[in-house]
Amino acid sequence: MRYAIARRKMVEQQIRGRGISDPKVLAAMSEVPRHLFVEPALENQAYSDTPLPIGFRQTISQPYMVGFMTAALELGGEERVLEVGTGSGYQAAVLARIVRRVYTVERIPELARRARRLFDQLGLANINLKVSDGTIGWAAEAPFDAIIVTAGSPSVPQEYLQQLADGGRLVIPVGSREGQVLKRFVRKGDRWEEEDLLGCRFVPLVGQRGWQDGDN
Ligand code: SAM
Repeated sequence: MRYAIARRKMVEQQIRGRGISDPKVLAAMSEVPRHLFVEPALENQAYSDTPLPIGFRQTISQPYMVGFMTAALELGGEERVLEVGTGSGYQAAVLARIVRRVYTVERIPELARRARRLFDQLGLANINLKVSDGTIGWAAEAPFDAIIVTAGSPSVPQEYLQQLADGGRLVIPVGSREGQVLKRFVRKGDRWEEEDLLGCRFVPLVGQRGWQDGDN
């Protein structure tokens, strides 16, 4: 209850107010208690217009970015979605309110453990989480109707394109460590239509097809 007003304001001002009109996205972000996904000391900033640290040099993304990326996936409600970069679990929880099933991958075990605990606490039973290198996707569960990558990649791993169902959408930040372009790919048979959506800055996607830990 304590945060209900802040959450409503966040959705009205930062999400709807900046042009995101998909009612499923607005409803999901109105429902998910974002303050549970941040460190207790930062709880009173959870609905601010900014990313926040979650430990291990990682972040929970700015609410607008979560709304924008979710809307860019053009979800109808029946999809199976892969998320790479569980982080706090907030984006996965928003997706889980919209789609049939979410598969989310995190490389840092402690972040995955915390996220899993929150999914249980919130009764989000349609999320499968694993600790792994998400740069190679999740072949055993492919194809996916949508794939969302919430860390910045130096290039587009071919695995993501291959693990998309026909008509499926991939949203991924691609660029340098300092800044990326958020790209969307739509699979049309053996073709992928590519579109640049906006400039962004994410923490690095680290792994086999991403950055090596010490890369510049
Ligand atoms: N979606 C998250 C949320 O809602 O809190 C924010 C994600 S944070 C910006 C990026 C996350 O991607 C970090 O938790 C990081 O550990 C993770 N990550 C980076 N490389 C990864 C990889 N190869 N596989 C899985 N997760 C990865």
